[in-house]
Amino acid sequence: MIHHERLRPPSHDYPADEWNVIEKSFHPEFLAQLETMLALGNGYLGMRGCPEEGGPIAENGTFINGFYETRPIIYGEEAYGFAKTGQTMLSVTDSKIIKLYVDDEPFWLPNAKLLSYDRRLNMRSGTLDREIVWETLTGKLVKIASRRLVSFAYRHVAAISYCVTLLNAEASVVISSRIALHESDSHNDSNDPRQTTGFVGPVLHPRSTHAKEHRIVLCHATQKSRMVIASAIDHALETSCRHTSEVSCSANLGDVAFTVEAEAGYPIQLNKFMSYHTSSTASAEELCDRVRWTLDRSVAQGFEPLLAAQERYMDNFWRRSDVRITDIREERTKRTTVEIQQAIRFNLFHILQASARAEDAGIPAKGLTGGAYEGHYFWDTEIYVMPFLSYTSPWIAKNLLTLRYRMLPQARTRARQLGHRGAMFPWRTIGGEEASAYYAAGTAQYHINADIMYAMRKYVHATGDDIFLREHGAEMLVETARLWLDLGFYSDAKGGKFCINAVTGPDEYNTVVNNNAYTNLMSRENLLYAAETVEWLRTTDPGAYEALKEKTALETSEIDAWLRAAQNMYIPYDEKLKIIPQDDSFLEREPWDFRNTPSDHYPLLLFYHPLNIYRKQVIKQADVMLAMFLLGDAFSQEAKRRNFDFYDPLTTGDSSLSSCIEAIIAAQIGDIERAIRYGMAALLMDLADVGGNVKDGCHIASMGGTWMMLAYGFGGMRDDGGILSFWPRRAPGDNAILRFPITYRGQTLQIEIDLEQVKYTLREGDGVLIHHETEKIELTRERPSAVRPVTTTTTSSSR
Ligand code: BGC
Repeated sequence: MIHHERLRPPSHDYPADEWNVIEKSFHPEFLAQLETMLALGNGYLGMRGCPEEGGPIAENGTFINGFYETRPIIYGEEAYGFAKTGQTMLSVTDSKIIKLYVDDEPFWLPNAKLLSYDRRLNMRSGTLDREIVWETLTGKLVKIASRRLVSFAYRHVAAISYCVTLLNAEASVVISSRIALHESDSHNDSNDPRQTTGFVGPVLHPRSTHAKEHRIVLCHATQKSRMVIASAIDHALETSCRHTSEVSCSANLGDVAFTVEAEAGYPIQLNKFMSYHTSSTASAEELCDRVRWTLDRSVAQGFEPLLAAQERYMDNFWRRSDVRITDIREERTKRTTVEIQQAIRFNLFHILQASARAEDAGIPAKGLTGGAYEGHYFWDTEIYVMPFLSYTSPWIAKNLLTLRYRMLPQARTRARQLGHRGAMFPWRTIGGEEASAYYAAGTAQYHINADIMYAMRKYVHATGDDIFLREHGAEMLVETARLWLDLGFYSDAKGGKFCINAVTGPDEYNTVVNNNAYTNLMSRENLLYAAETVEWLRTTDPGAYEALKEKTALETSEIDAWLRAAQNMYIPYDEKLKIIPQDDSFLEREPWDFRNTPSDHYPLLLFYHPLNIYRKQVIKQADVMLAMFLLGDAFSQEAKRRNFDFYDPLTTGDSSLSSCIEAIIAAQIGDIERAIRYGMAALLMDLADVGGNVKDGCHIASMGGTWMMLAYGFGGMRDDGGILSFWPRRAPGDNAILRFPITYRGQTLQIEIDLEQVKYTLREGDGVLIHHETEKIELTRERPSAVRPVTTTTTSSSR
């Protein structure tokens, strides 16, 4: 189902532009949305897109990935094994504030007379650029041009180039550059469970403060998680006008004020450099030294080289990741379909910003664009974002898997708490422990174990990184397989099949159910992959096999037990409807009364008690459909169509994780109309605020889903079972040309699908084997390209 009314066009006046998201005039009513959309980040440090002046603001978040405070989770009624400790990513010191006064008149957007205004997220340079001409109350014209960046090349650095020019008069100008901790009561009383709970009272406690010349260093620490953060600013002022400066500082606020006798036509160029270092082991002194060293280097280098490094990074990123769609009718003029291109790039750019330098951290559900979901890592990363990363930036995918490996000790402990063998990865976490306060739609989502293993398999296949599999993956496989074996049982009621009861699948509107089909299908993969990997180790690397056995106390009988469980896994099937029931009781439920549900009562979770939802036949997000995409080879075309037709009308899409998956299945079954409609919903999820909550942060999973939709859905890419193949299909009347690169086994391929043919090109590397449908194609340096015809679908001919 699609909520047509929610697929409205962008709610403010940014024009179509391939490389920029442009705000052409100041709209106070869209402050919060634009703070999210124009946020900058590098995966470690994130800054919402607030104006330089420090206001007006909706949520002035500056976030460090993985920097969090803990708090006890207070339940009205406790039960054994509930998660005890919440973790919340904190909004830290805001270092980007630059206040401007001209003849003592403050520049303040809401009441300033603006002669021109242009603010843009520049996705080619990786910057947020703004250019304004302001007329003061006395008629002085002031041009303010700024560029902000959070550096990809230098993980701990952000910078702003801020240039003020009096155009028609001289004036006394004060530029007050600040760093501030806005510690207010961050407790949130909203009913929306997706938002952050927050804290009552201060969370970041001052440790030390230093101010000297143009530099300020502030250091704070959390009390319970014992994390320390040093943040600092420094400046370089270039102007031929006379000027002085003054620095002042207290524990939570530092200010460097430049007073300039501005002359007409002479620019005042202030370059501001910002640095953050965080740790849970290093001392406050050590971290202060680190920010100082970082600033020493940045100031010595200057803004331009930082910008050049950012642009180089972006060039590289786009070269290996840019997906292009051209309309055939515009191909002759080489004009791309600008709006679509803008939306695609916006999604990919935000994934980069959420992950590029995360390194030892994960990807929060909102990236670093907002505090919602408390900065937690979910399955979003593995199922929705990692495919894109594995095929375009595999080293980032590897970091994310390594993080999961580092969480294995906590996952083992959590399994024990729930009385299980093996390891149980947390539904939501930052530090590795389960931080979900609602077990039904949280801890019960056991499928996360299988999701992580699924993503790892894809990564290993895409990269050929057997070393990761041997050194880390095998151990995770053993422990996750153990959990499944322990969790399930052979049920007489189901003909002796292996059943898994009391779990929640991806669809959070049907919780704690028996035999959720997605969970059973994915755990089967997990069990098989574990058995296959242990066998591979035994035959190829006996030393590593023995080490694994010793480390995990693995018995050979366990492997037989995994295989037996996998072979006997119960996969629900309804003979009458010829579909896979989502779980044992789904078909018995009373249908949801969609006709009498007002359109403003979505998402249902904000308007109905969970029990009202759980007892009805209604779905939050793709569940069976997701399994059919992830394990596509296991399902016939006909099965996909029947299940899609059955589940689509019941699926509210109340989670942003749904549209992209529905688009893929629709594309695979040749239902191009619905594929495009769901596809547009996914592409515009944030840009057009389809879910109505972009103010709280970007939907990073859906953003990753848009890449899957383009590559797997429209591009016909398949990689189940360790073979990379392409099954491109065209529908009559479909005019788009799709081009995308992938990195496969260290080589770069370009795939171009036009109206009649698909062209595969080896762009970098020695040679690679892929499949066009079932035909093997070897691309080599000597023969780097191959062209094959594309099949045109009627609705039943696609694979
Ligand atoms: C979805 C989950 C998702 C979470 C974070 C929820 O609304 O139902 O599947 O993991 O959001 O994005």
